[in-house]
Amino acid sequence: MNASEHGAANARRALAQAAERSAAKLRANVRPAAWSNPAPSGRYNLVVIGGGTAGLIGASIVATLGGKVALIEREALGGDCLNTGCVPSKAIIRSSRICAELRDAYMLGVESGSAHADFAAVMERMRRIQARISQKDSASRLQALGVDVYFGRAHFTGKDTLDVDGRCLRFRRALIAAGSHPVIPGIEGLVAAGYLNNETVFDLAQLPRRLLVVGGGPLGCELAQAFHRLGSHVTIVQREPQFLPQEERDAAQILSEALARDGLAIHLNTEVVKVTRSGDERTAHMVCAGKESTVTVDEVVAGAGRAPNVDGLELKAANVDYDGERGVTVDDFLRTSNPRIYAAGDIIEDSRYTHMAEATARIAVQNALFFGRKRLSALTVPWCTYTDPEIAHVGMYTREARKRGIPVKTFTIPMNDVDRAIADGEEEGFVKVTIKDGTDRILGATIVARHAGEMINEITLAMVAGVGFKTLSNVIHTYPTQAEAIRHAADAYQRTRLTPLLKRLTTRWLAWNK
Ligand SMILES: Cc1cc2nc3c(=O)[nH]c(=O)nc-3n(C[C@H](O)[C@H](O)[C@H](O)COP(=O)(O)OP(=O)(O)OC[C@H]3O[C@@H](n4cnc5c(N)ncnc54)[C@H](O)[C@@H]3O)c2cc1C
Repeated sequence: MNASEHGAANARRALAQAAERSAAKLRANVRPAAWSNPAPSGRYNLVVIGGGTAGLIGASIVATLGGKVALIEREALGGDCLNTGCVPSKAIIRSSRICAELRDAYMLGVESGSAHADFAAVMERMRRIQARISQKDSASRLQALGVDVYFGRAHFTGKDTLDVDGRCLRFRRALIAAGSHPVIPGIEGLVAAGYLNNETVFDLAQLPRRLLVVGGGPLGCELAQAFHRLGSHVTIVQREPQFLPQEERDAAQILSEALARDGLAIHLNTEVVKVTRSGDERTAHMVCAGKESTVTVDEVVAGAGRAPNVDGLELKAANVDYDGERGVTVDDFLRTSNPRIYAAGDIIEDSRYTHMAEATARIAVQNALFFGRKRLSALTVPWCTYTDPEIAHVGMYTREARKRGIPVKTFTIPMNDVDRAIADGEEEGFVKVTIKDGTDRILGATIVARHAGEMINEITLAMVAGVGFKTLSNVIHTYPTQAEAIRHAADAYQRTRLTPLLKRLTTRWLAWNK
C-alpha cells in the first residue's frame, strides 16, 4: 500500500467510525439498550401505540397537560420519519443537490473542482443528522415529560385494555399511531433476487454503480434523482404515463424533463414484470406497449406504495374496524368504531405525511380527551415532493373542482418570469393558483420551483386564514425572491377585475386630471 492508499484507507476508517458513533447516539436516544419498561399502575388517560411522529405528538401533549400517558414502541422512537423516511432522504438529497450545483457551476461563471460525491461521507453526514434530530424524539425526553415509555409490541386484549409483552395496560382512551410499512411489490423473482426499500436503502455502505428504481411516486422520484446525482447510473420505471400520478400533468412533465436532463434513463408506461439475479447483478425484464426490454443493474429499489400496520394489533378484540389496505376506519373526528379509541398518522388512509401525522394526532387528542369537535375534513393540507425542482400542492386540483361543478379560474406565473429565479438560474417551474370564479377565494395551488415546499406555505396560510387572492396582491414581498411569483399571480387576478367600464372611467379621469 502506498502513502496515498494508506491515507485513503485511514480516511475511510475514520468515516466508518464516525458513522458508527452517530448510529450509537441515535440508538441511545430512540431505543436505549438498557431501558426497563415501567410497571403499569392504575388506568391511563391515554395509551398510544406507536412512537412515530403521530404517537410522539399525541403522548407529549397529554403529558405536558398533566395527564397519565403511556407510549408503546416496538422498534425505534421517531418512526419512519426519523429512521427510514424524511430525515435520511432529505439529508442525502441535500448532498445530491450540491453535486448538481457543482456540475452546473460553470453556467454561473464558477469553475468547480469535482462534482464527485464521497458516498461514505454523505452517509456519515446523514447518520450525524439523524442522531442530532433524534434528541427531540428520545426516550429520556419523553420520560422527563412524564410519559411512561414501553418498548415492545402492543396488541389489544379488550375494549379498554392492551398487552405489551405480557403487561396489561388499562386505558380511558387509546390512540393507534402504528404507522405503515412498504408493500412487497408483486414482481416475479424480485424477492429472491433481493431488493431495497426505504427500510434498507439508507443502510447502503457503497453507492451502487447502476440502480433501478421501480415506481415513480414521490419516494421513487426523490431517491432516483438523489442517487443519480450522487453518481449512480439510475433507471427509473413507472407503470403510469407520468411521474407523481396525482399531480397535474404540467407539473409532472417538468419533473420528467428535469430527470432526463440529469441523465436518468426514464421508462414511463412501463411495467417491470420479472427480476432475475446472476452473481451480484440483477436483470429487470420490462414491458412497454407490448415490447419487451431488459436492464441490468447492481441494486433495485422498490417504491411500490405503503400499507398500514394493522396486523398483530388484534383490533377485533377492541372492536376496532379496519381494512388491510386502507387502514383503521375513522370518522371525521378520528374516532374508530370503539368510541374509546382514536387513530392518527399513516395508519389511517390519506394521511401519509409527517405533517399530517402531527396534525391528526393533535385532533385525535383534543377530541379524545378534551371534548374537542375538530374535524379531519376541515384541514387544509399541503404536501411537497422534494425533487429538483420541488413539486408542492395545496387544496383542490383544477380537475377536482371541475368534477364538483365549481367554476374556476387559474392564474399561472412561469418561474422564468421571476427576477430572482432568473438570477438564481432556477427558472424551471411555475406558480399556479386556482380560485373560485367570480370570487377571490383560493381553492388550491400547485408550485413547481426550487423551493416550492417553502413557497406553498404562504398559500396554505392564506387559505386557512380565509385571506382572498386579492389581498396577496397587496402583500409586500421582499425583492427579489422567488415567492414574488405568488404576488405576480395575484396581480394577474387583480388585472382581470379592471372591467372595460372601469378602464374607460379611469382613462377619462386621468385625461381630465393632467
Ligand atoms: C423515504 C420516505 C420519505 C418520506 N419523506 C417525507 C417528507 O419529506 N415529508 C413528509 O411529510 N412525509 C414524508 N414521508 C412520510 C412520513 O415518514 C410518514 O407519513 C410519517 O412518518 C408517519 O408517521 P406515523 O407516526 O403515522 O407512523 P410511523 O412513523 O410509521 O410510526 C409508527 C410507529 O409505530 C410502531 N408500531 C407499529 N406497530 C406497533 C405495535 N403493534 N406496537 C408498538 N409499536 C408499533 C412502529 O414501529 C413505528 O415506529 C416519507 C416516507 C418515506 C418512507
